[in-house]
Amino acid sequence: MRKEEHLMGWKPQQSSGTRLHGWCPPGLRPLVGLSALLGLTILLTAAHPWKLLPRDALAQDAQTTSARIKRVIVLGIDGVDHRLMTKWMNEGRLPSFQRLSQQGDFNPLRTSMPPQSPVAWANFITGMNAGGHAIFDFLHRNARTYLPFASMSEVLPAEGNASFLGIPLPGKVRLPFSNYVIPFTGGTTKNLRKGTAFWEILESHDVHSIVHRIPVNFPPVGGGAVTLSGMGTPDIQGTNGTYAYYTTAPGEDYESASGGKIFPVDVVNGTVEARLYGPPNDFIDYDRIQKRTGRRVPYQERKASIPFTVYVDAEKPVAKIVIDGMEIFLEEGVFSPWVELNFSLLPTPGFIRWVWRDLVNVKGTVRFYLKSAQPDFGLYVTPIQISPMHPALPISTPPGYAAELAEAIGPYYTQGMPQDSKALDRDIFNNADYMKQLYIILDEETRMAEYELSRFREGFLFLYFCSIDQTGHSMWRTMAGQENHPAYVKELDDPYKNVYPELYEYFDDFLAQTMDKYIDEETCLFIVSDHGFASWERAFNLNRWLYDNGYLSLKAGTAPSSVSFLQGVDWNNTRLYGLGINGLYVNQLGREKYGVVPPGPSKDALLKEVAAKLEGIIDSKTGEHPISKAYLSREIYSGLHVEEGPDIQVGYHRGYRTSDASAVGELGEAWLSDNTRRWSGDHCQDYRELPGILFTNFQVKKPEPALIDIAPTVLKLFGVTPPEEMEGRPLF
Ligand SMILES: [Zn+2]
Repeated sequence: MRKEEHLMGWKPQQSSGTRLHGWCPPGLRPLVGLSALLGLTILLTAAHPWKLLPRDALAQDAQTTSARIKRVIVLGIDGVDHRLMTKWMNEGRLPSFQRLSQQGDFNPLRTSMPPQSPVAWANFITGMNAGGHAIFDFLHRNARTYLPFASMSEVLPAEGNASFLGIPLPGKVRLPFSNYVIPFTGGTTKNLRKGTAFWEILESHDVHSIVHRIPVNFPPVGGGAVTLSGMGTPDIQGTNGTYAYYTTAPGEDYESASGGKIFPVDVVNGTVEARLYGPPNDFIDYDRIQKRTGRRVPYQERKASIPFTVYVDAEKPVAKIVIDGMEIFLEEGVFSPWVELNFSLLPTPGFIRWVWRDLVNVKGTVRFYLKSAQPDFGLYVTPIQISPMHPALPISTPPGYAAELAEAIGPYYTQGMPQDSKALDRDIFNNADYMKQLYIILDEETRMAEYELSRFREGFLFLYFCSIDQTGHSMWRTMAGQENHPAYVKELDDPYKNVYPELYEYFDDFLAQTMDKYIDEETCLFIVSDHGFASWERAFNLNRWLYDNGYLSLKAGTAPSSVSFLQGVDWNNTRLYGLGINGLYVNQLGREKYGVVPPGPSKDALLKEVAAKLEGIIDSKTGEHPISKAYLSREIYSGLHVEEGPDIQVGYHRGYRTSDASAVGELGEAWLSDNTRRWSGDHCQDYRELPGILFTNFQVKKPEPALIDIAPTVLKLFGVTPPEEMEGRPLF
């Protein structure tokens, strides 16, 4: 048996003083080491001012299109709000950002409508609006089934993909005398974003690019660039992240947990026996088992799984887990290092394993977290990550880069947006647990960034950070000034008042060091966020409002509160429906399966009518208008894919957002309700109220810079003419 410190030959405690690691109590800045170093940095930079402005290169560029800057670095920090950045700069909390704004430039950055990260980053990547890149929301709908699907990528199962010399082969072959089937090919994954990523254009002009974890790039599109996929990358089960929680106190409604799976367990003689469930196993012939036994195999049992045993100490808050031939020692309240597990899909003789070796084993990585040893036992397991050392799905270009990075900095989260807000919403995590995980992720982000910055010599480098966005969602209610937020609980949240502003300060420190070490007169620096951030206090159920106002009908006998995924809707008498976070669709004749509204004047009249009504709604609790503007898609979008998206994008005032229930086609009890979720901050509102930020180490000449302007700007910096389909314009 191996010991945890030898797992994968990597020691987790390898951080230097410049890195954030470990957990500090709330109230103490998690940046103690960093702050000490910052003092030194400020002294040094005061003596040796940042070599800031790439004036010569930009001046040259204005005269000749063939001139090139040597390096362009974009730090993409998701969800940094322009108002908060300005406020905290003015208060003197962010000296490095303040200084960059004085020596270079600082502007609000116009975001996408809706200001959702997949839409916004797709604007950034392609220089086009959603009509061009076809990402309109986190969720899209299938017009033939009215069912939602994740907008960014698609994982297709193995069956039915095989062909030989163009002749389709049967997707699977059954092994006689067994319950096994063998697919001819592995499953495939598809990136649903349309348009060309600007780094592909750079590569075709011999400008090398490194693009780290940019959202909406799974599977990653490289075109010769080094890329690592980010938001949109699933866990090993193909979901957005499904945690597992093993507990002796599951609660009565444990089966209804969303975003995770709660397993009731017993501690018998200090021992817990359970299984960890991994990827769906396509190698088993479930039809044959059902025919033979008369029993339908439940979904959970269709997954490959690994048994494990936990030995719980009788006195101390510690335990030992034995899994997949490893022993891991767990201390209550401490995350384990990354552990790589092997899910075997086909326990067959060696020669078959040899022939199908890439298909029969899937490796995934997890961290364990002993939430509580006694009196109630609680063990949290992170969603099983695609192993960066042995990726089962493509997460990087070239394919070996993910492992190279793991070799350099240790294993890391590969799932997009890994902060487990679902565990927090479910009370499996408390604020402290959530922040511990957040600091682990922040540490990984920082080490990744340092690894690339330190070896970057020439070309384009993009680095992505998700911690401010995710913490804005989950911890907004804890911030000073949010005491009236419906989700605020004084005794729980007061100790965490500073955690969110401290993240801005963390990046201020990071900026100081980046400027000092890596930015010179041959380097253009951009700091970009995709959208701003705001409170989310009141939830609007769009589908309920449509029902109560006669636009959406239910089949006879269907109670509104029983509807989910729009099942039970009487489509023959429904003109409008909501799906996704901001989308409102017409039930259009010839497009939707049971469409009733013909395209043309009657559709246009309907859209105008409903837009005016939505904008006129008043929230009786607050006296405010929840909706500032209902945007007609054909007025805000252009490009080949306008027709595929919603007909209206609903723009909310700060403080309001579509309810989660409405986003997945539920009607709920009322149009408006308090948002009592821990997920208490949001940005899926009116884009005019939520600009992102743009810092540059040069002057921006274009008025009202927008996300779509960055791609053409970077191309121009390297002397490349932006393609015609790019709507954005260079900033200088
Ligand atoms: Zn967000």
